[in-house]
Amino acid sequence: MGPLQIKDILQTAPENQSVVVKGWVRTKRESKNAIFIALNDGSTINNIQAVAEPGQFSAELLLTVTTGSCLKVTGQLIASQGAGQTVEVKISDIEVYGTADPEEYPLQPKKHSLEFLREIAHLRPRTNTFSAILRIRHALAFAVHQYFNDKGFFYLHTPVITASDAEGAGEMFRVTTLDLNNLPRTEEGAINFKEDFFGREANLTVSGQLEGELGAMALSKIYTFGPTFRAENSNTTRHLAEFWMIEPEMAFFELEDNMDLAEDFVKKVITYALINCKDDLNFLQNRLTEEEKSKPQNERSLPLLEKLAFVVDNPFERLTYTEAIDILLKSKPHKEGKFQFPVGWGIDLSSEHERYLVEKHFKKPVILTNYPREIKSFYMKLDEDGKTVRAMDVLFPGIGEIIGGSQREENYEKLLGRVKEIGIDPENLWWYLETRKFGTAPHSGFGLGFERLVQFVTGMGNIRDVIPFPRYPKSAEF
Ligand code: ATP
Ligand code: MN
Repeated sequence: MGPLQIKDILQTAPENQSVVVKGWVRTKRESKNAIFIALNDGSTINNIQAVAEPGQFSAELLLTVTTGSCLKVTGQLIASQGAGQTVEVKISDIEVYGTADPEEYPLQPKKHSLEFLREIAHLRPRTNTFSAILRIRHALAFAVHQYFNDKGFFYLHTPVITASDAEGAGEMFRVTTLDLNNLPRTEEGAINFKEDFFGREANLTVSGQLEGELGAMALSKIYTFGPTFRAENSNTTRHLAEFWMIEPEMAFFELEDNMDLAEDFVKKVITYALINCKDDLNFLQNRLTEEEKSKPQNERSLPLLEKLAFVVDNPFERLTYTEAIDILLKSKPHKEGKFQFPVGWGIDLSSEHERYLVEKHFKKPVILTNYPREIKSFYMKLDEDGKTVRAMDVLFPGIGEIIGGSQREENYEKLLGRVKEIGIDPENLWWYLETRKFGTAPHSGFGLGFERLVQFVTGMGNIRDVIPFPRYPKSAEF
């Protein structure tokens, strides 16, 4: 169906057979003996070279064949004369589908900064870097579904619009149809949300977990994979206002099982990319190596493929929060006062602490468990000591937290106590609490930020560059 794609044509044995190639011009080069057109259709990082003889086409036509223009090229597939490719197309006919005036088209064949490309997000998928990232992103998403399907999980579609403001994971985006210039008021003068679309306050979800738990209490093993929204004004390289989260939730899993699953899961999806995205990963690796040339030797990181293989091949380090604090207290940066935020039992680890543990101390991914209850969510299961909860965060080099999860509190009284403790009205969560009232069971789950995974696998420094159209403070243009 449809024409052959460049990816397939490049794999075809050249037998002078006629071929049709459709794609966008990356470069055009004219020499005394030939005109070379490199075409790409996004099916692969590799271009196909199409060759014409000088004088074969009118100067007028050739003037419209410029970087970014779109062509249909008909010709013969022949063994390539030059180095760098095995096959090429001997052109017999060119049809220009769409021109791209070189005076206006911003993606000329030269290096563009990632910041500049963000300003032309409508065109950046046409660059090698972004097309590679988007293909890898696709492969990872596919691997996620494949992994869970193979393991007997069901894909549960949790709502995007939610009326439970209970997660407390971050600031929420409000969903309303009220007229902002003419808000209905209660007798006390507050906004009357009873008149709003849902008859109550509604927001975009910050996590599908609570509904995910409802699914796990019926189907045993579910996962969600959907858009997630946080209106936190954090202008970091690891936060988006709209991102995709993968949240498995499993009945009868305790913390240990949860950690085993998280570790196996990320290793398997990374392995999938290593096997299926070789060309794109190689391209990105070279790009990074190039970028790192300006850095001193000791600040350079492992080549991308080695880094990924290392994560896949080595067990993650597992330790408790308390043990991690001890390590940080004994660390050089702590003793020399180099940490920006002070270390002590009870602190919420900041990314400098997480990165010290992962990048300097253990030099591999780390799973931290049993955090103080005060810094974790109400639904996490209390440990026997009553001080810590059965939380687990997976920390990755260069990224920090990639996964946050826990064993859930399955005891109705304890959960209700925690709900009240943090000031949530139990009425708002009656449906969630009922799972603990009717056939409760030990269960666990976690959330993986998909873009952080894509960031790790592609080696990209900024999360805004691993999603097609990033949303962040003051930016939602495309
Ligand atoms: P962080 O401390 O990094 O802000 P968090 O504790 O808010 O993370 P969770 O609420 O546990 O994160 O969410 C689960 C996962 O979702 C995180 O481990 C991370 O991978 C991802 N994540 C969280 N917030 C964002 C965001 N704003 N943009 C992209 N991914 C995010
Ligand atoms: Mn956060």
